[in-house]
Amino acid sequence: MEHCFDIDPMNQWLPCGDKPCVIAGPCSAESEEQVMETARELAKIPMVKVFRAGLWKPRTRPSTFEGVGDAGLDWLIRVKQETGLKITTEVANPVHVEKVLKAGIDMVWLGARTVVNPFSVQEIAEALKGSEIPVMVKNPLNPDLTTWMGALERINRAGIKKMVAIHRGFSFYKHSPYRNDPMWEIPIELKRLCPELPVIVDPSHICGKTDLLHVIAQRAIDLEMNGLMIEVHIRPKDALTDKQQQITPVHLSGLLFGLILRKTSGNAEFQNLLEELRSEIDKIDQQLIDIIAQRMSIVDQIGHYKRENKITILQLKRWNQIFRERIENGEELGLNREFIMKLLEIVHQESIQRQINVMNDND
Ligand code: PEP
Ligand code: MN
Repeated sequence: MEHCFDIDPMNQWLPCGDKPCVIAGPCSAESEEQVMETARELAKIPMVKVFRAGLWKPRTRPSTFEGVGDAGLDWLIRVKQETGLKITTEVANPVHVEKVLKAGIDMVWLGARTVVNPFSVQEIAEALKGSEIPVMVKNPLNPDLTTWMGALERINRAGIKKMVAIHRGFSFYKHSPYRNDPMWEIPIELKRLCPELPVIVDPSHICGKTDLLHVIAQRAIDLEMNGLMIEVHIRPKDALTDKQQQITPVHLSGLLFGLILRKTSGNAEFQNLLEELRSEIDKIDQQLIDIIAQRMSIVDQIGHYKRENKITILQLKRWNQIFRERIENGEELGLNREFIMKLLEIVHQESIQRQINVMNDND
């Protein structure tokens, strides 16, 4: 299989055993006490390996708390010394990089607002050159896998081999129960294209509130993601940033304890049955593609026929009737209505495109 990046496997530099790696800590470092109290509690949770806290905060509006800045570097170092947890913070420009490298921070991450801008990512990549610090790259705000991969590529080309992608959800114009819609198909596609790259899921920024966190965390595990980043504050109601989504260390402990960790492969009997079922699926997919090809060839014939008889391509009445009948049909067979609608829409779009091609053919 092709690899996208030249990277060191995560278990070589962040050993988490067969459990997902958990990064936890406040959205922002606010005071030495808040940082230390939170870190001491988190260090008691075995799955937590890394302590996070934002020092320079990207805020939507000015005149809101923009982080404690340089002062927090020492607090993080104290966390590392007293608890043994690794420490990480966000870098958004070369000055931040210089400061974290000098201070001895263990890992950094690039935030969603930085990743949207290739100029910023390139500047950070240049500043990271020559260091071996692990770098985590959050997805950009907009649902664009290429920008995300481009940022990872810039970091990797700067010689950084310890890399992680963080899935923190995407801005979405439609109404959604999430602050940032998970659009799982995007991190799944990233994993498919670049299986060597670990992906850590950030349920806090996906949910924007606390009540769905465990659902997203479980989904991340079920989709074989490699870890979780969760915002934890010793007193969430006093938090200066992202107050609605932060949980207490006790809450995190319960959430992690409640996760159902699944094995990626089972015993031989299980494997055999799985293989059998998978080969059934392979056959069915092949049939599905054959049938779609047959449909398209008939669509082409209809296109020629319409062209000869000078009839328009889009026959709305016919299309509405197809739509209604197929949806009813699919629902009777237990298929989800939305799913059939989406499927029919893309088949219809492709059919129209093919007929347009037939109409434009000059022969
Ligand atoms: C954060 O992790 O606190 C943060 C600002 O995240 P994001 O860049 O994903 O919005
Ligand atoms: Mn936050």
